[in-house]
Amino acid sequence: MQRRKSLPVQLGGVTVGGTAPVSVQSMTNTDTADVAATRAQIGRLIEAGCEIVRVAVPDQEAVRALPAIKQGLTIPLVADIHFDYRLALAAIEAGVDGLRINPGNIGGRDKVVAVVKAAQQKHIPIRIGVNAGSLEKDLVQEGLTPQALVQSALRHVVILEELGFFDIKISLKASDVPLMLTAYRMLAEKVDYPFHIGVTEAGTMFAGSIKSAVGIGALLWEGLGDTVRVSLTGDPVQEVRVAYEILKALGLRSRGAELISCPTCGRTRIDLVSIAGEVEQRLALINQPLKVAVMGCVVNGPGEAKHADVGIAGGNGEGLIFCKGQIIRKVPENLLVEELMKEIEHIIQGRNGDEDI
Ligand code: SF4
Repeated sequence: MQRRKSLPVQLGGVTVGGTAPVSVQSMTNTDTADVAATRAQIGRLIEAGCEIVRVAVPDQEAVRALPAIKQGLTIPLVADIHFDYRLALAAIEAGVDGLRINPGNIGGRDKVVAVVKAAQQKHIPIRIGVNAGSLEKDLVQEGLTPQALVQSALRHVVILEELGFFDIKISLKASDVPLMLTAYRMLAEKVDYPFHIGVTEAGTMFAGSIKSAVGIGALLWEGLGDTVRVSLTGDPVQEVRVAYEILKALGLRSRGAELISCPTCGRTRIDLVSIAGEVEQRLALINQPLKVAVMGCVVNGPGEAKHADVGIAGGNGEGLIFCKGQIIRKVPENLLVEELMKEIEHIIQGRNGDEDI
C-alpha cells in the first residue's frame, strides 16, 4: 500500500501526516467541566492506546476545566468548538494542543483573524471538521453530495490559507460510507493537508465497528488517512480498540495482541466460544504485538494457524498448546486458557527480560 504524501502537522508531541504512523484518537463523552470524570476517562483511553484526545468545549465552564484536564497529560489535548470564537481563544489560552473548529462558522473576519493569530502564536493546528449533517445550505441545494463536502472543506481552507495559516488537518465525515469515501478521494486530489478519517455517527459497538472498518479500512487501503477516529455510541475506550483492530488488519500498526480464532465446525469438541471470549479479554491487557490462535480442533488447528506465535487447538475434553505450528504439550480443557496465558507470559518475558505483562 502506498500512502498519500500529506504535509506533516505537529499536534503537541504527535506528528499527524507526512511519514508518521497513522495515529489513533478518540473523544471523551463525559461532561468536560467534570474534571475528575474526564481525566479518569482519558486515563482509560491512554491505557487502551489512544494517542490524541478531544474534548467538547461547549461553554466557559468547560474552558475553565481545560488547564486541570491538561495538567500532566501525556497525549495531545484537542478542544472541539462550534461557532463561538471566544471559546476558541480561551481554549488556546488554557493550553490545548489543537483545535477543531470551522473558521467559516465563527462569524466575521476579525473573529477568524483573532483565532488564527492566537493559534499561530502557540503553534496550534486547526482541524477543519466538515460534517455531512451540518453543511452550508447553499451547498446542499441539490442534495447531499461528495462535492458539497469537499466544497465546504475548501471554503474553510481558503479562509485559513489567506491568513497565512497552514497547520491544517481536515476531516469530511458522513454516516454514509460511499459518500465519505468519494469525498475523501476527491479532496485528496485538491490538497496536501493530512486527513483525520472516520465514519461519523457510525452506530453502536456491533454495527458501528463494521461500518467504521469498511469506511476507514477502504480509505486506509487506498493510502488515505493520517489519523483515525472510530465513532461509536458507548464507551470511547472501545473506539480505540476498534481503531487498532482496523490498523492491525491492514498491517499499519502492531499494538497489542491479535487474536485469530476459528469459526468452529462439526469437528469442535470443546467450548471454543467461551474460551475465545476469555482469551480475548485477557489479551486486551497485553501491549506487545503477538498473534494468538484459538482453534477448534487438533486436526486442522495448528496447521491453519501456523503463523500464530502461540495457540491452542481443542480435542475431546482436552487440547494442545502450539507455538508457530509446533505442538508443545497436551492439557485438559479446563486448563487450556491458563496454560496458554503462561506460554504468552513466557514469550513476552523472553523478549523483555523479566518485565511483567
Ligand atoms: S480449526 Fe478445526 S474446528 Fe475450527 S473450523 Fe477449522 S476444522 Fe473446524
